[in-house]
Amino acid sequence: MWGGKALLLSLYGTCIFLSATGQDPADSIFIRKIFDIALENLESYTWLKELCSIAPKRLSNYADYFKAVAWAEEKGLKWMGLTVERQPVWVPNWYRGNPEVALLEVSGRTFPLNAAALGGSAAGHVRASVVGFATLEALELAPTSLVQGKIVFINQGFDPHPVETGTSYGMAVGSRRNGPAVAARKGALACLIRSMTHARDDYPHTGMTVFPDSVTPIPALALGMVSADTLWAVIKSQKEHTLFIETFCRQGPDTLSFNVVGEWKGKEKPGEFIVVGGHLDAWDTGSGAHDDGAGCIHAMMALRLLQKAGYTPRRTLRFVLFANEENGLRGAEVYYKLSYQRGEVHVAALESDAGGFTPRGFRYENNPTRAALLQDFLPLLMPYGISFFRPGGSGADLIPFRKETDCLLLGYSPDSQRYFDHHHAATDTPEHVHPRELELGSACIAALIYLLDKYLP
Ligand SMILES: [Zn+2]
Repeated sequence: MWGGKALLLSLYGTCIFLSATGQDPADSIFIRKIFDIALENLESYTWLKELCSIAPKRLSNYADYFKAVAWAEEKGLKWMGLTVERQPVWVPNWYRGNPEVALLEVSGRTFPLNAAALGGSAAGHVRASVVGFATLEALELAPTSLVQGKIVFINQGFDPHPVETGTSYGMAVGSRRNGPAVAARKGALACLIRSMTHARDDYPHTGMTVFPDSVTPIPALALGMVSADTLWAVIKSQKEHTLFIETFCRQGPDTLSFNVVGEWKGKEKPGEFIVVGGHLDAWDTGSGAHDDGAGCIHAMMALRLLQKAGYTPRRTLRFVLFANEENGLRGAEVYYKLSYQRGEVHVAALESDAGGFTPRGFRYENNPTRAALLQDFLPLLMPYGISFFRPGGSGADLIPFRKETDCLLLGYSPDSQRYFDHHHAATDTPEHVHPRELELGSACIAALIYLLDKYLP
């Protein structure tokens, strides 16, 4: 049905897709309709602003998270007429508490540093000198005597060479995830890391750090880039200095939270599912606009755009808003476990968790036979900015789906240049999301869901 030579004609501003192999020209007309509805209304941005103002601080154990759950249920039930389910999820119970303090004292002067506690950080107040390491590896190789009784600073920044910023993140993020535990094992009193970003501002970027059960947590913080440069310069100068750090974090027993799942029954194969998802939780430093408010809106709006365009799904389409992606992935595990117990079959699952930026492409994994069809969809999506389907990780919340080897897994891959400017920082707010860029993402995902539903065997 798909494949062979394709020809794109532009008639009166409408792209018509023709093919010698019997491609249905109705597809390009329907996809154009999705984009027209999306771009005329820009509803995605209105919904994103609502979510971020009603529930800005929405780690999955925070009070705001439950406001986000109620908001998503109302949108799914009342606005989209879907069946909506709350799935109970036990999540870690970490709170930041009051804003952190980091004061660097050198040569009789005090320099306040911009710092944010990492998720999993302990509370504490510490005054000590700082020992610096350029990389996590350098810290790992250091003798305990160098670290004991000191504050550790790991100044491992993003490698500027990869074009995709996610690659730089993947290369550096071990310093945030594992660095504080390595420092604690060697007797450090606290650990600071350079923020995971290319941005040349001074906003600290938080994120999860992991203390295994065998390690007693210590205060662990990210520094803004300017603050990191200041501290590094002082360490290199070998001037006498002290750093005072205070964190107010609390860790309680696991607590109950929820996934939100909206379902639109399929007409021909209701027992087969296509999932489109994002994660509803977000770090509390900003309001989680790109990470991952945008992905939640993409998932919900993809179904809404299909509804507005008059689509009748063959399979059952679901939006899934996962709890606890940021500090545990427990929502994804619960969704998949429940689904497995119910004997459900997923033909495809897509996550949007790379921001609300201009569409570029989709990554795929898990089912090479189904993935081969994607290249045939490309001519239909190229007029809207999609230029690739390429192998790669789909999304953290889709990891449990890998067990279902027939299920095609997809990750939305927008332009990545600005994503880590805002990721987990105070600037991850709707002002840094462009309404048309966000909407184009919703429409691209809607169009892909339509093609998957229609053409996947
Ligand atoms: Zn995310």
